[in-house]
Amino acid sequence: MRTRGFLSPVELIDTSPPVADEVKTTTCYMCACRCGIRVHLKDGRIRWIQGNPNHPVNQGVLCAKGSAGIMQHYSPARLSKPLLRVGERGAGTFREIEWDEALSLATGWLARIRAEEPKKLAFFTGRDQSQSFTGWWAKQFGTPNFAAHGGFCSVNMATAGLYTVGGSFWEFGDPDWDRTKYFLMFGVAEDHDSNPIKTGLAKLKKRGAKYVSVNPVKTGYSAIADEWIGIRPGTDGLFVLALVHELLRTDRIDLEFLVRYTNAAWLVIRAPGAADDGLFARDAEGGPLAWDRRGGVAIDANTVGMQPQIVGEVTLPDGRTALPVFHLLAERYLDGRYAPDAVADQCGVPAATIRRIAGELAATAFDQAIELPQPWTDTSGRQHATMIGRPVAMHAMRGISAHSNGFHTCRAIHLLQMLLGAVDTPGAWRYKSPYPRPIPPGPQPSGKGSKPLAMMSGMALGNPRGPEDLLLEDDGTPIRIDRAFSWDAPMGVHGLLHMLLANAHAGDPYKIDTLFMYMANMAWNSSMNPGDAVRMMTDKDPGTGEYRIPHIIYSDAYYSEMVAHADLVLPDTTYLERWDCISLLDRPIGSPEGPADAIRQPVLAPDRDVRPFQDVLIDLGTRLNLPGFVTEGGNPIYHDYADYIANHQRRPGLGPLAGWRGADGGSAGMGEPNPRQLDRYIENGCFWQHHHKPEALYYKHANLAYLQEAKQLGLIDRTAQIVLQLYSEPLQKFRLAAEGHGPVQPPETHRARIRQYFDPLPIWYPPLEQGLIEQAAYPLHAITQRPPAMYHSWHSQNAWLRQIYSRNRLFMHRRTAAALGIEDADWVWAISRTGRVKCQVKLMEGVNPDTVWTWNAIGKRSGAWNLAGDAPESRTGFLLNHVLSEFLPDGEGPRRANADPVTGQAAWYDVRVRIEKAGAPAETAPHPATLHHPQLPPAPRILRYAVAANGVRP
Ligand code: SF4
Repeated sequence: MRTRGFLSPVELIDTSPPVADEVKTTTCYMCACRCGIRVHLKDGRIRWIQGNPNHPVNQGVLCAKGSAGIMQHYSPARLSKPLLRVGERGAGTFREIEWDEALSLATGWLARIRAEEPKKLAFFTGRDQSQSFTGWWAKQFGTPNFAAHGGFCSVNMATAGLYTVGGSFWEFGDPDWDRTKYFLMFGVAEDHDSNPIKTGLAKLKKRGAKYVSVNPVKTGYSAIADEWIGIRPGTDGLFVLALVHELLRTDRIDLEFLVRYTNAAWLVIRAPGAADDGLFARDAEGGPLAWDRRGGVAIDANTVGMQPQIVGEVTLPDGRTALPVFHLLAERYLDGRYAPDAVADQCGVPAATIRRIAGELAATAFDQAIELPQPWTDTSGRQHATMIGRPVAMHAMRGISAHSNGFHTCRAIHLLQMLLGAVDTPGAWRYKSPYPRPIPPGPQPSGKGSKPLAMMSGMALGNPRGPEDLLLEDDGTPIRIDRAFSWDAPMGVHGLLHMLLANAHAGDPYKIDTLFMYMANMAWNSSMNPGDAVRMMTDKDPGTGEYRIPHIIYSDAYYSEMVAHADLVLPDTTYLERWDCISLLDRPIGSPEGPADAIRQPVLAPDRDVRPFQDVLIDLGTRLNLPGFVTEGGNPIYHDYADYIANHQRRPGLGPLAGWRGADGGSAGMGEPNPRQLDRYIENGCFWQHHHKPEALYYKHANLAYLQEAKQLGLIDRTAQIVLQLYSEPLQKFRLAAEGHGPVQPPETHRARIRQYFDPLPIWYPPLEQGLIEQAAYPLHAITQRPPAMYHSWHSQNAWLRQIYSRNRLFMHRRTAAALGIEDADWVWAISRTGRVKCQVKLMEGVNPDTVWTWNAIGKRSGAWNLAGDAPESRTGFLLNHVLSEFLPDGEGPRRANADPVTGQAAWYDVRVRIEKAGAPAETAPHPATLHHPQLPPAPRILRYAVAANGVRP
C-alpha cells in the first residue's frame, strides 16, 4: 500500500512460520516429576516440546531436561533390535535376533524357573514409572524378588514419613507454597520435584517468605535461600533434635495440636524386661488408652472432650505403670545432650544459629498464625469455625535419606513439624493426594511359602508392622535375595536394589538363575561401585566355568553401561513412542488440592524394531500362562499395555486410572472400566484431576469431609482419624524381639543392632562408616549433588544437555584446599577406604569446609551411550561412585551392608575421603576399557538436531 509517496514495509520474510503441523500432549519422562508436555510435530519429526500450561504438575513450565527430550528421542545410542550375547559378558558382542526368538528364549528361561523355584527369578527395575504393573507381574509370576530403585534413593524418607505422619515429602507432600511464611528445606539439590519446587520457590520469593536451606553445599536451590546453613553431612538429625530441645525448653509447642492429632497422650507401658514394655496400653478391643485427668482413669484415647494427662506416671487398673508419649518425648529431648551448645561442633552450626532458628520457627508458627475463614468438621464431630494454620513448611530429600541414620533423621523432621502443629495446616507442609494413609501403612509384604507355578498372595513389597511380618524361612534365612524384610533390613519397604548383585554373586542367601532388569544401569548408578558391579556380573564360578549370575535379561531404550553385560537385550522405545500410565496405584502426581493421574500416548511410531517394555511383559505373561494374563481357556486377557491400562481392575472398580471410569465415563476414582477412557484422557491433555471441596483441603488426617471423599474415590478404606505417631509402636515391637520376646527372634549377631536402632522415638547417631574407620585418615565427607540439567546416567548422552555439563570437578572449600596446598584446577586423588578416583579441583566458598562434592552421574564409561571413545564424559568427567562400597568395613560377625539398619537404604552419602595431589596425565581415573557397540551407528563427532548419526540430514 502507498501512502504519501512512501512504501509501507511489506513482509517478505515469514518470521513466525508454523512450527508444527500437529501437536500431541503427553507426559515428560526426562526426570521423575512427570510434567505435562505438548509435542509439536512437523513432517513426522519432533520440532518442539512445550510445557502444557493446563497441566497440574508444571502449569506450562518446562526445564532444560524437558525441552531436550527431542535429543533424547533422536539419540544415536538408541537400541534398534533385540540382541543375544555371543561373546563374553561386557565385551559388547551380540547377534541381532528377531523378537520371536528373543521372547521364546526369555519364556524358556522363565518357565523353567517358575516350574521349579520362582524366587530364582530376580525381577528388578530402576527408574521405572510403572511399578504397580511391574510389581503385579512379579506377584503373578510368583517371585518375591521384585523391587525398583527406591532402596538406594529415598526409602528412608518415604518409610519414616509413612510410619509417622501417613505421608512424606516429595511425591507425598508439598509445602503450602501460597501461604507459608517460613520454609525450611533439608538436603535437596536440583533434582526430584524439579519444576514444582522451582515454581514454589518463586512464589515464596515474590511474597517475601523466609527460606532457609540446610545443605552442605550452596548451589541451585540453596544459592537463592535467604539463609544457607552449610551443615556437616549426616548431622541434620542432631541439628533438628536441638531445635526440638529448644522448642520444648522455651515451651513453644502446639499442645492442642499434639493432643488432638498425634499420639502425645497415648499411654506407654513401662515394664523393663517384660514382653509389653514400651507398647501402648490398650483396651479390650485393642484401642489405645489415655489418662483422663478429670475422672482419674484410663479411657479410650480417642474420647471426645477428655482432658488427657500428658506428663506423669499412672497406674493402670491391672497394676501396670504407664507414661504418656509426651512425657517420654520431653524427657528425652530436654536432655542436655540435645542442647545447641552440645551439638554445635558436631553439626558445624553455631549454637546461637540453632537457637535463633528455633525462635524464628516458633515466632512464625505461633505469632504469625493464619486463620482461614473456612468451617470444617473433624472426625470426632467437632465443628471448627476456622482453619488455624502454622505457616512453617518443611521439605527434605536425598541429602537426608542416603545416610545410615537417615530414617531417624526423617522421623526427627516430622517430629519437629508436629511440635509446631505444622502438618497439613494452612501455611505448613501439606499431604498430596492420595495421602494421608493409615499408620502403620498397609499391606504387609508377601513372599512366604512361594510355590512352583503359583502366584503370590500379595505384592512383594509392603509394610511390616512387627517381626511377624518379616520374610524369613522357618530357619530364619531371608526369603528375598536382597535380604529386605530380614533382620538385615526389617523395614526395607522399597527393596534393596543396591545389594542385589552382591548377594546374587555370593549366592547368599541362595543362588538365583535369572536377573531380569529394566532401566537399571547397575554399573553406573548413584550408589554402587562400578568396578564391583562389573566384576560381579562377569565373574565365573571356577568349578563350572559358568557365570555366577547365570542369566541376565535387560531392557532399556539406550546402549547404557548395563546393556553390554546382559545376555539377552530387549530394546525398549523412547518415552515418546509408548503408552504409559502415571497411576494413583503407583507414584502419584496428585497435589494437596486433590488427586490426579496421567498417561503417556505414543507421539510417534517407533522407526526401529523395538517394543515398549510393558507390552513385552504382557506378551511374556501370556506366553508363561500367568494368572491374570490369560483366560481359563489360555487366551490373552490384554493385547497390549494400553489395553491393560484401560481394563485391568486391581479390585472391582479400581483400575490403573481414576478418571472417567464407568461405562459412560461419568465416575471418578471407582467404577467399571470405560472403553473410551484413554480417549477422554487425550481429549483432556493426557491427565485427570479432581479438586477437593474447600472444607476438605487442610487437616486431612482428621478432616471428615476429606476422609469421606477419599474413601468414595477409593483412596482409603476407612474414614477413621489418622493419628500421627510421635512414638512408633512397630519399631518397639522389633526392639522387644531383640530383647528376647516373641516367637520371631533375630540371630544373636543382630540383637544389639536391632535393640539400638529400633528406637520408637527419633534418635541420632553418627553415620555408621564413621565409627568404623580411622577418621583422621579420611577427614572429609564426599557427596554428590544432582545437577539441574541432568537426570542420572540418562542425560550425559543428550547432545543439548552435554553442552551444559560434559565434565565435572571436585568442589572444595578454599580454606580446606589451602591447608592441603591445593590450588584451583589442580588434579587430585579422592581416596576412600575402598577406592580412589582422580579428578580436577574447583575451589569455592559455598560448601561445608569438611566436605568435598561433585555433580552426580556426569562421568560415563568410554564407548557407552554411543559417545565417542574420547568424549569428555569419560576423560575429564568422573563418577564419585568409584570410592563407594556396598559394605561396611569388616568387623566381627557377618558382612554388613553399608546401609541404614532400619530400612536398608544405601548410605552412599556417608563416604569419607582424603585428598592427595595427583600427577600427570590431566585426565580422570579410573578408566575402564572402552565398551564396544557393533550394533549402533558410528558415534557422530558432532550431533545436531535433524542431522542423522552419519551426518546426513534426513
Ligand atoms: S522437571 Fe523437567 S525433566 Fe522433569 S518431568 Fe518436568 S519438564 Fe520433564
